[in-house]
This record gives sequence, structure tokens and C-alpha cells, in this order.
Amino acid sequence: MVDFVPVNEPLLDGNEKKYLNECIDTGWISSEGPFVKKFEAEFAQTVTRKHAITVCNGSVALDLAVASLDIQAGDEVILPTFTIISCGAAIVRAGGVPVVVDCDPVTWNMDVSQIESKINFKTKAIMVVHIYGLPVDMDPVLEIADKYGLKIIEDAAEMHGQTYKNKPCGSFGNISTFSFYPNKHVTTGEGGMIVTDDDSLAEKCRSLRNLCFQPQRRFIHEELGWNFRFTNLQAAVGLAQLERLTEFVQRKRKIGAIYTELLSNLPQLELPLVKTDYATNIYWVYGMVIKEEVPFDATEAMQRLREKKIGTRPFFWGMHEQPVFHKMGLLKDISCPVAERLSRRGFYIPSGLALTEEQMKQVVIAVKEVFD
Ligand SMILES: *Cc1c(COP(=O)(O)O)cnc(C)c1O
Repeated sequence: MVDFVPVNEPLLDGNEKKYLNECIDTGWISSEGPFVKKFEAEFAQTVTRKHAITVCNGSVALDLAVASLDIQAGDEVILPTFTIISCGAAIVRAGGVPVVVDCDPVTWNMDVSQIESKINFKTKAIMVVHIYGLPVDMDPVLEIADKYGLKIIEDAAEMHGQTYKNKPCGSFGNISTFSFYPNKHVTTGEGGMIVTDDDSLAEKCRSLRNLCFQPQRRFIHEELGWNFRFTNLQAAVGLAQLERLTEFVQRKRKIGAIYTELLSNLPQLELPLVKTDYATNIYWVYGMVIKEEVPFDATEAMQRLREKKIGTRPFFWGMHEQPVFHKMGLLKDISCPVAERLSRRGFYIPSGLALTEEQMKQVVIAVKEVFD
């Protein structure tokens, strides 16, 4: 009897336990502890930014990023439709209007050639989201943002250790964000980070994260913030994880290379692109898209894999197809054919850092049985 292969399992066998014990031995478990500052400093250095601000998850990192840029009622923000709800939610909660573009069919990232036609006098920002392991083609985006005076929010949640033309992902936005959820390849259980070079944006995010307490007189507030703080316990784990970032990225690439080698003779599947001229895939997850000629979709494939003890997850569901936004009168009657195909035909297989070669072979055998 073989065991179920979970879709993700993190690797926590470095200094995580040692640093966590330090928290417990010293009593520093809140956001005031020394690991938080240390983790922020190391992280900022890793992505070559001036400021790094921890928050309690990657979704609220986006909320703060949008709030700090002063996106107001009616302001439009352009983003890929193919992303997690957190991106659209951050814009909508701030009163902004999400405007979506479709995906590139090969990289699965936002089709940057569609951005310019969506710009009008209400457009304030472009939210760039790097998807699944390859970054967005940033140069055209930076050029457009510069030409029209737009801000860039960069969601690099899936891009720890990835670069675009040898510059770290997370270093491109006026403000950029990360997540440390356990399927991200640097994890703190739950957690997130905002990075920026802009002193005033950093100050604003620090204040918003901490209820907008004022240093001169605590408990009197000029603005409304949130408690989005990150604990010393989370930072202890994060620091231990960050020490191994290079190794983790190598391991992800190895997983990607093994799957690609073993699955590339299956004509029924479109596999992730190995590289573009600006980046080599880091396979945050190893996704695949079922080709048109196969008579069943991802839901069916995932069900069949589950019966063979393989964990999977479906691809994102486009923002323009989200019932919650339609109920609010947003993103109705929009067609994004590439995203619509990806969300119905795409899914990903186990690709966490703790995955063994034995497990990968088990996954490949099951995938072949389902599609051959
Ligand atoms: C994981 C993820 C998030 C959200 O992060 P959480 O920490 O789970 O809230 C945001 N954006 C992208 C692209 C993600 O992959």
C-alpha cells in the first residue's frame, strides 16, 4: 500500500526549531521580538530593497500596498484576471475598480500587450502578479507605467528567489508583496511581507499594520489602521527558511526538471515553460493544462488522480468570472478566453519542497494512467 502524496509539504529541517526555542526561552513571542526586525532586514537585503515590513499574510500585504498608494473610490487598477482573489479583493475593498487583462497562453502570466488599451484618465496603478514560477515580462510594464505616470504594485508571493533579467522579483514595484503560506517556498506558517524603496510608503504601511497608533500619544488616532502584525515566532521560522533560499530554489528547479523529463512524452498535456529569455522557471507549483483533444477537464482529472492517491489543486479562477464581483456589478460580460481555458483545463500536481523522488515517480505513473 502506497501513501497519499499531498499536493504540498514544507521543509522545516533547518534552524527553525532552534530559533523557535529561543523565542520560548526568552519569552519573546509577540511582534515586538528581535527576530522580526532581523527577518525584515535580511529579507530587504535578499530582494535589494530599502524597506521590508512584515504582516500576518500575503493577502493583507496587498491590502496595505493598495491603501498606502491612496487608491480611492473610482480609481482603476489594471491586473491579470488569472490570479488569486486577494488581488481583486484588495482593489475592491479600497473602493477601486479592477480592470482585467487576459493571460499569455504560454507563460500563463498577464498578457502585457493588452495593458495599454485599458488605460484611461481613471487608471492609477498596474498590479503585476507573477504566476506559478515565471515572472511577468516587466520591461514593457515599466515602460507603460512610466509613460502614463502609473504606480506598480508587484505581487511576488510565488517568486521567492526568482529574478527577471537577473534582478530579484519583488524589486520592481513602487511597492511589492510576498506571502509565506506553507506552499510558498519560504514559509512562516502564515505570513506576508511588503517591500519598497519609498520611505513614506514604508512609513504608511508600518502605521496601517499597527492600528495607526501614534508614537507621541498612543490610543489617539488620526487614521484607521488594522492589526496585521507578524509575530516573533513566525519570524524565527522565516529566518531559518531564508537561510536556505538558494537551496530551496535549486530543489524546486530539480523537481520541475524531473517532472518535465518524465511527462514530456504525454502529448495530451501542456507542461510549464522551462524558460523565457528573461527568466528560468522556479516551479512554485508544477502546473499542467489538459489539451483540447482530451474529452475531460481538470475537475475530472483531479478526481481520478485523487483515487490514485495523488493530491492536486485546480488553477486559479479568473477575476472576471467571480460570482462575488458580479454581484457587486463588477467585471461583468468580459471575455478572457485564455484564462477561461486555463481555469477549466489546468491543475497542479504535488510540488512541495519535501517531495521525494519516490513520490514524484508515483505521481508520474498515476498521471500517465489517467491520460494514456
Ligand atoms: C499565496 C498568494 C497570495 C496570498 O497569500 P496568503 O499569505 O495566502 O494570504 C497572494 N498572491 C499570490 C499570487 C499568491 O500566490
